[in-house]
Amino acid sequence: MKIYRANIIYAPTPDKLEIIPHGYIAVRSSGIIQGIYKEKPEQTDWRQVVDFGDKLLIPAFNDLHVHAPQYRNMGLALDLELLPWLNTYTFPEEAKYANPEYAQKMYRRFVHELWMQGTMRSAVFGTMHSESTRILADLFVQAGMGSYVGLVGMNRNSPDNLQNTTEYVLEGLEMLRNHLDKHGNNGLVKPIITPRFIPSCTPEMLKALGDYAAKTGLPVQSHLSENRSEIAWVAELEPESTCYGDAYNRYGLFGQTPTLMAHCCYTDGEELELMKRNGVYVVHCPMSNSNLSSGIAPIRKFLEQGIKVTLGTDISAGHNLSMLRAMQYAIQVSKLRYAESRGATRFLSLSEVLYLATKAGGEFFGKVGSFEQGYEFDALVIDDTYLNAFDYTLEQRLERYIYLGDDRDIKRRFCRGVELTEPVW
Ligand SMILES: [Zn+2]
Repeated sequence: MKIYRANIIYAPTPDKLEIIPHGYIAVRSSGIIQGIYKEKPEQTDWRQVVDFGDKLLIPAFNDLHVHAPQYRNMGLALDLELLPWLNTYTFPEEAKYANPEYAQKMYRRFVHELWMQGTMRSAVFGTMHSESTRILADLFVQAGMGSYVGLVGMNRNSPDNLQNTTEYVLEGLEMLRNHLDKHGNNGLVKPIITPRFIPSCTPEMLKALGDYAAKTGLPVQSHLSENRSEIAWVAELEPESTCYGDAYNRYGLFGQTPTLMAHCCYTDGEELELMKRNGVYVVHCPMSNSNLSSGIAPIRKFLEQGIKVTLGTDISAGHNLSMLRAMQYAIQVSKLRYAESRGATRFLSLSEVLYLATKAGGEFFGKVGSFEQGYEFDALVIDDTYLNAFDYTLEQRLERYIYLGDDRDIKRRFCRGVELTEPVW
């Protein structure tokens, strides 16, 4: 048993922050939280207590949509909308991952930076290359971080050197699944079925991936209703579908197993109902949606309708791997919606975005993202001394950290109870 003492802040529900000044969290050797206390638990030996003084202790971040092979393009090439952006900037970079040495070199940097940013769990797109994607999964294992790693299926409407086949993807997924069953760090790193999006996959591939999801129970991740031109294209490609979401649903890729759908800027009506009925997760990516001029997802409506919403950085359409920036953008774009609706659509609060970045996304990994009893202890120790010059309250300190802080303020990182030191490759 370990007991940590610090200024504890977390969001067990979207509407409220739980704040315990100089509180205690007891963590079992299994990494599971035993309890959280205002005072030192009775019969505790002081020698068991690790005291972080006046620092903040918050749940670690969970990034539910991020493209590892686009790391090199981060902060670049944001002058186009989605479809020309993919062809001009993204596909040429992803094609380089045919070379496992290049993948090893770049993925090391990517995983290292995720560690730096305090993102202890992620749902990640690799590329269409089986070996490079296995390399990415192994790096997460070595770093001790949790991740769902996706071998991308894509066999149409992309350059010839960036297309695989249904057989190749099924074989690659099976290999990755067997590999991670044995070497996935007790289930911390797992595979996820990843059709890039409807325009990249033939009906044959989509059907095969849906069947594979049904057979294995593996979760699914993809993109949905991000951009108007994309939605029109999907309607042409899948004329029998009643909406974009229905195109996935017909192939068993829409909530038949746990499913993440990034963006959903234009999700409404039947698609929204289908997401609700099937329990499909929205991954809100406000940096990306701003950078590619895609739109502003109706997050307040999703939340009011009881749809599950999580948060992603979506690099490199998002320009920053920090979930702090994702939270900040989520609040800011919700305020633009508020202004456009003349105040009819309430903007997101601080507790809501912390909830999205921690507990809401953590649910995809099990009991992760909160400090309640029974949760896995994923946590960050934040030293915000330089931001706390005027005796702010703990809630104000959290707010300033989200708006003004960065990775340099993170002093310790824990994933499933284990302190993760800097990955050295
Ligand atoms: Zn994406």
